[in-house]
Amino acid sequence: MAADPTTTAVRSSARTGLDADALKRGVLDNLICLQARPPGIATPHDWYMALAYSVRDRMLARWAATFQTYAERELRVTCYFSAEFLIGPQLGNNLVNLGIEANARAAMQALGQDLDALLAIEEEPGLGNGGLGRLAACYLDSLATLEIPSVGYGIRYEFGIFDQEIRDGWQVEVTDKWLQKGNPWEIVRPNVAYYVAFGGHTQSETDPQGRLRVQWIPAHMVKGVACDTPMLGFRVNTCNTLRLWKSEAVESFDLQDFNAGDYYQAVQEKVISETLSKVLYPNDEPEAGKRLRLAQQYFFVSCSLQDMLRLLDLKGEPVGRFADMFAAQLNDTHPSIAVAELMRLLVDVRLLPWDEAWSITRRTLAYTNHTLLPEALETWGLPLFRGLLPRPLEIIYEINRRFLDEVRQRYPGDDARLARMSMIDEAGEKKVRMAHLATVGCCAVNGVAALHSALLKQTVMRDFAQLWPERFHNVTNGVTPRRFMLLSNPGLARLLDKTVGEGWVTDLTRLRALEAHADDAAFQDEWRGVKRANKEALAQHIRSAVGVVVDPTALFDIQVKRIHEYKRQHLNALYVVTLYQRLRRDPQRAVAPRCFVFGGKAAPGYAMAKLIIRLINGVAEVVNNDPAMDGRLKVVFFPDFNVKNAHFIYPAADLSEQISTAGKEASGTGNMKFMMNGALTIGTLDGANVEIREEVGDQNFFLFGLTAEQVEQIHCEGYRPADCVNANEELREALDLIAGGHFSRGDRNMFRPLIENLRQTDPFLVLADYAAYVACQEEVSAAWQDARRWTRMSILNTARAGKFSSDRAIREYCEQIWKIHPVSVDLDQRL
Ligand SMILES: *Cc1c(COP(=O)(O)O)cnc(C)c1O
Repeated sequence: MAADPTTTAVRSSARTGLDADALKRGVLDNLICLQARPPGIATPHDWYMALAYSVRDRMLARWAATFQTYAERELRVTCYFSAEFLIGPQLGNNLVNLGIEANARAAMQALGQDLDALLAIEEEPGLGNGGLGRLAACYLDSLATLEIPSVGYGIRYEFGIFDQEIRDGWQVEVTDKWLQKGNPWEIVRPNVAYYVAFGGHTQSETDPQGRLRVQWIPAHMVKGVACDTPMLGFRVNTCNTLRLWKSEAVESFDLQDFNAGDYYQAVQEKVISETLSKVLYPNDEPEAGKRLRLAQQYFFVSCSLQDMLRLLDLKGEPVGRFADMFAAQLNDTHPSIAVAELMRLLVDVRLLPWDEAWSITRRTLAYTNHTLLPEALETWGLPLFRGLLPRPLEIIYEINRRFLDEVRQRYPGDDARLARMSMIDEAGEKKVRMAHLATVGCCAVNGVAALHSALLKQTVMRDFAQLWPERFHNVTNGVTPRRFMLLSNPGLARLLDKTVGEGWVTDLTRLRALEAHADDAAFQDEWRGVKRANKEALAQHIRSAVGVVVDPTALFDIQVKRIHEYKRQHLNALYVVTLYQRLRRDPQRAVAPRCFVFGGKAAPGYAMAKLIIRLINGVAEVVNNDPAMDGRLKVVFFPDFNVKNAHFIYPAADLSEQISTAGKEASGTGNMKFMMNGALTIGTLDGANVEIREEVGDQNFFLFGLTAEQVEQIHCEGYRPADCVNANEELREALDLIAGGHFSRGDRNMFRPLIENLRQTDPFLVLADYAAYVACQEEVSAAWQDARRWTRMSILNTARAGKFSSDRAIREYCEQIWKIHPVSVDLDQRL
């Protein structure tokens, strides 16, 4: 076929060409034209920006083709609503998904720059706390890779999750200034903006057609401006959008106030509206119950729904087709105000009858529940809610009135049930229950792991599951193998390509073919070689971050995740103290050398979590400075656990710590990232651990601890932690050593709140699971001594991780919940 001159031009264009030469020309162009720097004085950051812009150029060609395709076709779009998107560094991922990493490396080398050094410069957008925000990001990667028309909707926080520093063993929070040096991936669209009302009051009137209309007279308005980040799929042309809203004042000054001389009042309004998207709330599980938080939620939900209505109008579709064009997934209850806001937009603004609006709302929305922890179930005090959102509250009351009528008909005379199911908690200070609003207003409710979905139906959602059993689903979480294997573990990726073929990246179940090699000695050597190199790389990072030298031949035993009592980092720390005691007592004792690595942020207001960080650092200081521990035991707290650091931590693990109190971790996703990278898991029967063990087989998983059922039973019977201490001499000693100031330079007060909490109430059954955990760790040590057995287990973990790809999870959402199909995008025809 003769070369089409346009296509040839595109292929070699500095904006779109994928070869090293076109990339090099693109980088030089962007260095001068966008970064405004001549090469002679460009800093590494300038080169990073120029390369990022050049990668973005290639993505935008695909983004435009995607947009065109979606505009022309009849299709349904998934809108993923999430208050958090923890997308991680973008440059490396985009190079991998475009398939031009090698070309970019060559191009930069020709320009005298090292690609790895440039990748290390990138600041990550920390627009999430942990698992929930990272899940949303993995799902965007899978949505694009599977060619599903989709948009991510959220908040463009100016300050994301704080950076964590460790001073004197304590966590210190430092503001995250991720935007300081500019964000090359973001496209701000001042012309895509919506107004969001707050406060004030409502008025009823009868319109000329004789219908009752409610008008909301707000106290003030905030403007939301779209900030887009392109989300490219792996080796496809589909480039979807992450659309985050930033708040702006409607007017720079309220002129009336200004003319009246109240300059400060005028500026105050501006300050409030600009504060809205200023900062992410740094609480992982419990809700702060703050007014600004509710305002943030309503702000991004309202902008997003208005945006969807505008897209409908642009397509020339009537509003009655809304649910045919969109499926909206609510990531936890944070966006659940969408139920009331969509009703408001349809009834008050688009003037639809209530029943039609309700049908549209119910067919559009679906809700993912992420927690059973009672303190994390979102509720808002009624006065706060009414003051901020008077009209949405009226709508919630009307939804609730109709809903309770339905319950009354189904269960006549059951007032207790009515009170339990109401959207308003009437006991004590009245509150709005957001999970109830979401459940009533959505066509589907899903949990995030099989155990979690089952417990959801038995506990917090019991009444709803009885009323509407067909509404409840399970979609076990997944993570993207592009970022967490291909990008962050290139050594493993090469070995997998060679052994099972490259198809595993988009069909992770193909890793099953590794099983045939699990006992092959030569393959085992290669496998160990990859792990060894990853451990050496982590050792280097540890050395430069905390100044501790660790031995890459030791067992790397890693627990990285938010610090939380239910996740039980303190159980792990108690084991470290126990091991330390044993080694001190018996200097001749032969042990498998271990390096314990901890990482994770604590919510700034969560004193117990911060004390756990202090304990880990106290233990690390003592252990690492004791010559008797040399070559046997090391402890590291790796500061500032985020996606960027996760890239080199997960691939270096031998052992993955997943030790939450059974029934408390909804799913976990860190457990999956470790497994894919060949770590063995020590864990409880909690969240997705249950399914990980099912997949890998019980001989290849270190199981310990109480089951969710036993945990429930112990709490019912009355738990006495003192009994556990009295029954176990080593446990008593470990607690005494901590309480006696051994890890706090003699300070006997420092850890008192932690030790007293464990001895007196121990709400997460740390002491009840201690003996089983220690015994299980002994099994781990024994298994580690047999390198061939361990390597076989490691290979089998990767081989059987296929289920935990986010591609599988997204396919399940598409089939079970959204009823959405892929739409492929053709690039060449559109340029
Ligand atoms: C995966 C991930 C998490 C979630 O970890 P869990 O072990 O599931 O709690 C949190 N933070 C980051 C940066 C992650 O990559």
